[in-house]
Amino acid sequence: MFPEQSLAWGQSNNVIRKLAAYAAARKAQIGAENVFDFTIGSPSVPAPQAVTDALVELVTNTSPVQLHDYTPAVGLPSLRKRIAEDLNSRYNAGISPEMVFVTCGAAAGLVGCCRGLLNRGDEAIALAPFFPEYRVFVEGAGGELVVCAPHADMQPDMENFENSITEKTKLVIVNSPNNPSGVILTADSLSTIAYILRRAEKKYGHPIYLVADEPYRELLFDGSSPLCITHFYENSIICYSFSKSLSLPGERIGYLAVSDKMADKALVFASIVGALRGCGYVNAPSLMQRLIERCIGQTSDISAYKHNRDLLYNGLTELGFECVKPDGAFYLFMKSPEADARAFSERAKKYELLLVPSDDFGVKGYVRIAYCVAESTIKNSMPAFRKLAEEYGI
Ligand code: PLP
Repeated sequence: MFPEQSLAWGQSNNVIRKLAAYAAARKAQIGAENVFDFTIGSPSVPAPQAVTDALVELVTNTSPVQLHDYTPAVGLPSLRKRIAEDLNSRYNAGISPEMVFVTCGAAAGLVGCCRGLLNRGDEAIALAPFFPEYRVFVEGAGGELVVCAPHADMQPDMENFENSITEKTKLVIVNSPNNPSGVILTADSLSTIAYILRRAEKKYGHPIYLVADEPYRELLFDGSSPLCITHFYENSIICYSFSKSLSLPGERIGYLAVSDKMADKALVFASIVGALRGCGYVNAPSLMQRLIERCIGQTSDISAYKHNRDLLYNGLTELGFECVKPDGAFYLFMKSPEADARAFSERAKKYELLLVPSDDFGVKGYVRIAYCVAESTIKNSMPAFRKLAEEYGI
């Protein structure tokens, strides 16, 4: 009676949201300070003062009619220009304003790419571990998600990647820094991915588009700087979000930008515009568009995440847990001491530790720990992690 897929997605919350709902219920029962909620990737540092100042300035000095007006479907021309300028001045990205679509977060950008580029039955490759919503975005577009297993250090396995490509491959999604592992793609990895894709394009006689999902672009530690996908591959699209860098996840604001070097960029952009129109994902929130025009290039105080990374990584490895050291974002991937990560996540609940099992991220045997939390949550959770380690005889 109802579309089977829509109903199934609507009735089954994703694993992260399910555990987050459990965390909220537990906090109400026993007090928030007694629950170690590492479930959701919502920034723990506030948006910078510049955001508040710009909001006040906008609300004070703009007429309400203008402030809340419809904008063009693709976004305000002045903002599209600012986004292109920002990408070009910081990364020499080669983006023109006409190839920028202001989106309702990175999610809408990804949906636009999937629906605008995949025909029914086409394949999209995700390098595991990956953000679980990719499956919903790809399958919602009628495509098939092909999962490419990584090396043990969570870096991409290029042999697996090359073998994952078929004549149906139309899209590849990369995400660096990565949710859930915090691993970053090196310049070498991106060059190899580009080399493999160009060869496959030649072999199969059609373009394969590379989408860089970059909501964590600026959240980098240990001196790394962001790499720009357009330098590596012509058929590339950037999907960005201000959810994490400016701590604005609920405001639903981001953009996608199609590389100027893409041969069929006008058609690609038009198809994405049409796809997003078909989803009603037009005219990203008007107030936020005006805000971003004023605050682009700034970030919230992301140094807190590096501090949390060190605290958590050092604490857990000292206890004997095996962890992938994150280079960025605000997630840590920890090996489950038993093969079944779901069973481990269940056992951790006994100590009020809420850790997301890795199965839906396309890798088995790990848990994701989102450390965008107060420092005290990490410090106070260590005795609970110690008990958990003891239970497993670590
Ligand atoms: N991609 C990744 C890897 C994410 O982690 C998230 C959100 O957590 C998104 C996309 C969606 O971001 P947004 O809030 O901008 O829609």
